[in-house]
Amino acid sequence: MKITRVEPILIAVPYDHGGPKPMRPFGPWTHMETLFVCIDTDAGLSGWGEAFGFAASPLTREAITRVVGPLCVGREFKDVPSFMADLQRKLHAMGRHGPVSFALAGVDIALWDIAGKAQGAPIHRLLGGATRARIPTYASLLRYGKGDLVARYTEEAAGRGYKSVKLHEHLIETIAPGREAAGPGIDIMVDTNCAWRPDEAMAMAHKRKAYDLCWLEEPVDPVDDYDTMARIRRDTGMTIAAGENIGHAGEARHAIALGALDIFQPSITKIGGILAMRRAIAVAKENGVRVMPHSPYFGPGLIATLHVIAADLPESMCERFYCELEATPLGDAIVARDGHMNVPQGPGLGIDIDEQVIARYRVA
Ligand SMILES: [Mg+2]
Repeated sequence: MKITRVEPILIAVPYDHGGPKPMRPFGPWTHMETLFVCIDTDAGLSGWGEAFGFAASPLTREAITRVVGPLCVGREFKDVPSFMADLQRKLHAMGRHGPVSFALAGVDIALWDIAGKAQGAPIHRLLGGATRARIPTYASLLRYGKGDLVARYTEEAAGRGYKSVKLHEHLIETIAPGREAAGPGIDIMVDTNCAWRPDEAMAMAHKRKAYDLCWLEEPVDPVDDYDTMARIRRDTGMTIAAGENIGHAGEARHAIALGALDIFQPSITKIGGILAMRRAIAVAKENGVRVMPHSPYFGPGLIATLHVIAADLPESMCERFYCELEATPLGDAIVARDGHMNVPQGPGLGIDIDEQVIARYRVA
């Protein structure tokens, strides 16, 4: 079949997480931006993908519109691996991470959706078969910056059946109330998004041991300071997780070889899609490193992550942002109940896209 159209669709949906909106470099984070990618074919099959996303959306959209999309339209599509290998080869000079990789991720996921629909099989079956139909999911709280709110929403998430809660906090004063509110049966993780300089990270890692964290995520700035992450692991015994900003399997191998990671967190909409994520997961598995994918998404990227976990990662949880969206084009598919998400069983991604919701929240 031939690809006839590749369209990036940016939607921005208001959300509520029960606190003041977190700040980003460009101002307050008021909407969840999701960059959908819709691919049509002359066989009458269409597929949906998701490319990263959030503040990077305008750049990724340009990469799809100007670079990646034109290389797809009019071309014959037989199978995802050969199609994506050819795109990678043509675009290797544009870097192995960043908007072009994000754009490739959106195309890869949409093509898997089409391939599954063409074969009448869910993506997890194309990947070798699922080991689970429900995936344990952790509540990934947005940053509150206030101890009482962290405690309130940690307790609420635990009450809704989540057994693991991740805090995006980087102060003892906001982490401690969360740990206390969770109680002994709930795992707490902390993600700083690279908030600390190396010495500070080391000092904080020592203090955080007292809070019995399941893992400490991206503790150090700059993001690729793997030597410091290795030193924190060695000197404090803290479990270190990172990898959402790792661009390809080779970089994962490098970080693991330096001893930086207990847990690798590939992000499907960034690393280049399902195939690229599986290559990086294979590196982690070869080296005995656990994998917990990064997936704070609301679109096809979240669903694709469920398929990969179902097929490849029998011990892993899925990440789900803990907030309420005003609307979602994926309906119930992105809902977590009792701390679990269902792996869709329909062909391809196994989702129905509500195009009216897309139209209502489309911004570009
Ligand atoms: Mg993170």
